[in-house]
Amino acid sequence: MPNGPMHLFIPGPTNVPDAVRRAMNVPMQDHRAPDFPELTLPLFADLKKVFANETGRVFMYPSSGTGAWEAAISNTLNRGDRVLMSRFGQFSQLWASMAQRLGLDVICVDREWGEGVPLEDYARHLAEDKTIKGVFACHNETATGVTSDIAGVRRVMDAAGSDALLFVDAVSSLGSIPFEQQAWGVDLAVTGSQKGLMLPPGMSMLGVSAKALEAHKSSTMPRCYFSFEDMLRTNDLGYFPYTPPTPMLHGLRCSLDLLFDEGLLRVFQRHHRLAEGVRRGVGALGLSLCALDPQWYSDTVTAIRTPEGVDAAEVCRIGFHRYRSSFGGGLSKVAGTVFRIGHLGDLNEVMCLAALASAEMSLADAGAKVELGAGVAAAQDYYRGATAALEADPGSSEGGAR
Ligand SMILES: *Cc1c(COP(=O)(O)O)cnc(C)c1O
Repeated sequence: MPNGPMHLFIPGPTNVPDAVRRAMNVPMQDHRAPDFPELTLPLFADLKKVFANETGRVFMYPSSGTGAWEAAISNTLNRGDRVLMSRFGQFSQLWASMAQRLGLDVICVDREWGEGVPLEDYARHLAEDKTIKGVFACHNETATGVTSDIAGVRRVMDAAGSDALLFVDAVSSLGSIPFEQQAWGVDLAVTGSQKGLMLPPGMSMLGVSAKALEAHKSSTMPRCYFSFEDMLRTNDLGYFPYTPPTPMLHGLRCSLDLLFDEGLLRVFQRHHRLAEGVRRGVGALGLSLCALDPQWYSDTVTAIRTPEGVDAAEVCRIGFHRYRSSFGGGLSKVAGTVFRIGHLGDLNEVMCLAALASAEMSLADAGAKVELGAGVAAAQDYYRGATAALEADPGSSEGGAR
């Protein structure tokens, strides 16, 4: 169809760069061949850099991110273990539900959708209950555009003298905004291929600390396909316990090269700059964010509340049918009242302006009173200033990472 590309303004799957797509177009190869480790061993080493996890290791599973959620739990905990979790969006809710279904004794703190991990509540529970074996946190709640303070979770755990394992969902944050597995004392860090790593869906990565590897030895939860043991035995030699998705591994090689060529710090700065422009655009349209306070603002996804009486699902439908744009819909609790613009992965200023322009038209068509062009203009203004500042001083934090 000579209509130009379908625009993917969702927070995953994200756009796959052409170079990555080409890199995946390979003849099938023998995953037990002598040269296979030449591809895989550097991938493990380089993924550790992305997780900022020097002393632990990283596993790769042929599954979506949800598989690595399960791998993290089933490899390190025991049935009946008490764990501390919080729920404030679709993804934090789903992980809590998985923990319950796997037989953990879940203390779940519910917060309003639009807030993040409640540090004071965590501090209180950890002080009161010394039996807590796992503390869980969703770094970036993709349903509401909320980023939480993981270093803060670690501080609270240390202050309480907790020796629990720290589990973090970094699916829509890793490779896009700062993440420091080792410095933050994260024991299990989950991510998926289709977000910041700019790959198709279908692979998950799990960053594991030395402490979690130790806990694995005494954990008795049933596991097989996701077992660390089988992975350890084969990964060390550059192989897998079963057939890995080899084209995906070639894509990963390429996407890691792209991230390192740009430089992770620059990647984080770019995500902050793009997100800030989108937020200013949304503000200029007179709309509010689902994130309830600037401390929660996510640099990878913006969730926008539609005005009273305007159906967010209708905004998404119009965007899709009239303007070839996919926006993220509101999930469960915020269905109909929130739509989302994803701005992570292979993305630049003009793509964000296109997202705002398309959102403005879709909103207006759905009955919202918005001034066409106001959001785009505010973002343009910001992007011009931030780009000029960056050229003047590439090390500046203007338009840079927080
Ligand atoms: C995308 C995502 C997941 C994983 O979802 P899958 O569909 O299993 O890949 C988990 N958590 C968050 C925060 C996400 O954004």
